[in-house]
Amino acid sequence: MTLIALLAGDGIGPEVVAEARRVLDATGLTLAYEEAPVGGAAYRAAGHPLPPETLALAARADAILFGAVGDPAYDSLERALRPEQAILGLRKALGLFANLRPATLFAGLEDASPLRPDIARRIDLVILRELTGDVYFGEKAQHRTTDGRREGYDIMSYAEDEVRRIATVGFEMAKRRERKLCSVDKANVLETSQLWRDVVIELSADYPEVALTHMYVDNAAMQMVRNPGQFDVIVTGNLFGDILSDQASMCAGSIGMLPSASLRTWSGDTGLYEPIHGSAPDIAGQGKANPCAAILSAAMMLRHSLGQEAAAARIEAAVAAAIAGGARTPDLGGSLATAAMGDAVLAALESGA
Ligand code: ATP
Ligand code: MG
Repeated sequence: MTLIALLAGDGIGPEVVAEARRVLDATGLTLAYEEAPVGGAAYRAAGHPLPPETLALAARADAILFGAVGDPAYDSLERALRPEQAILGLRKALGLFANLRPATLFAGLEDASPLRPDIARRIDLVILRELTGDVYFGEKAQHRTTDGRREGYDIMSYAEDEVRRIATVGFEMAKRRERKLCSVDKANVLETSQLWRDVVIELSADYPEVALTHMYVDNAAMQMVRNPGQFDVIVTGNLFGDILSDQASMCAGSIGMLPSASLRTWSGDTGLYEPIHGSAPDIAGQGKANPCAAILSAAMMLRHSLGQEAAAARIEAAVAAAIAGGARTPDLGGSLATAAMGDAVLAALESGA
């Protein structure tokens, strides 16, 4: 039987994962679930944000449905024990280097985007973020210089094979979409970015059918607001991808709408599926969180890890129908509670939308 590891985590994580679970149950698929603590919740329960049992469950499951980690109560812990280390540890341990973050504007959400409706309506892109390298995993430290000043550093590094494997996913995805790949870097300033660009250009010889462009990240941030419709697939490093996808999410209406898949092969197999948002401590426990990003992440799980394309498409259509029907959580300018938004998606799913 297909085993799903449910790692709900902190803050709004459990609230949104619960809705995703209800929607998955309503598809009629037979799935087995096993839950395990992660993040601050796991630190509280077991003294570590990623206990061995949780990692073992993730490693043997067919797919992982993840909520979010992060809890301000633990901000002063040494870094290795902070909740965020759990998701970094999972990505690294499972080799989940390719993070797919599709951003589309759902019909009816034009009013939730800060962009002009005619511009917002053209958003249909995927940010492909490298997930196991860059400053997140390089050597990092704070220390005092000889004259007593505090100093901190984080080493940004990429090896050529790391760039090549994520760029390969980018070209393969672009081939299946509009055949446009934009590689985002900061090659005018950073050596890692120069290497990134060189490797992407070398690889492009294998993909003559894909139109490759390069953009500096600062320009990409500007273009994302000016004319996001120009993008099809964006491939970029861990840090730039983190920032650009939060920005893209807002252009598409809300950070509460964007799902993600973290994969270790182009074709899928075990993957980790999570909303792009974090634990949102400011709204946790208040029933205000938008569960759509988590629900859409469950759909991506069905598609990429479980081979259930039809059920994935049904869930996506149900979210679209609920949104089109006016269902709105507060982040979208409405007043529905998290569970009521889940109800709206379930109703749409059951009416076969
Ligand atoms: P991380 O470092 O984990 O990405 P973050 O610092 O980017 O976290 P988030 O937790 O994503 O922060 O929250 C950013 C803002 O977006 C907060 O104001 C939060 O309330 C809001 N937000 C995040 N997720 C949702 C959601 N599902 N529904 C509504 N608002 C959300
Ligand atoms: Mg964020």
